Amino acid sequence: MILSKEFIFDEFVEKYLDEPLVHSFCKSCENYNLNYSCPVHNDSLVEKYKYYKYITIYIYKDTYDEFISHGDAYLNARTYIDKAIFDFEKESNSIGLIPGKCMLCNPCLKTLDKPCPTPELIRHSLETIGFHVSNIIENEFSEKLEWDSNILHLVFGALSNQPITAEFDDFLKFYI
Ligand code: SF4
Repeated sequence: MILSKEFIFDEFVEKYLDEPLVHSFCKSCENYNLNYSCPVHNDSLVEKYKYYKYITIYIYKDTYDEFISHGDAYLNARTYIDKAIFDFEKESNSIGLIPGKCMLCNPCLKTLDKPCPTPELIRHSLETIGFHVSNIIENEFSEKLEWDSNILHLVFGALSNQPITAEFDDFLKFYI
């Protein structure tokens, strides 16, 4: 199942940005400060995106069977969602928001203290920018993140200067 909703970006920032709180949650993640797309960043990322007028949020929700781990189900979904996000950027004037860390290299070269080879391809997650994702999905989609079930939730999106939700909805049907 895919759910989507479009917001005026300034209003969305006002309502859901809480960078200090969200990044305090990030500290318990194994990727914290070990991936260039994840915190810690020197500057506030939201400033980088203030150029955009609209933000569209997507929730991908699916179940996976007991023989597959949550991690494998997540990685499998990431392969086609990330491809859809990057392909849609080429068809529109949008920039994608990925559902987690950058996975273009394995491991991220930050773990080896080497520079990112493709900084122009780094995309950020909502959490990395500082958005309170669980509040977004509860308030806007009446959904809840569930960690102790076989339900997979991936939250991603795109920023743009014109409404893109209908176009992105159609585009995603070829991938998901
Ligand atoms: S492109 Fe590679 S080095 Fe750069 S942030 Fe992504 S995973 Fe890390």
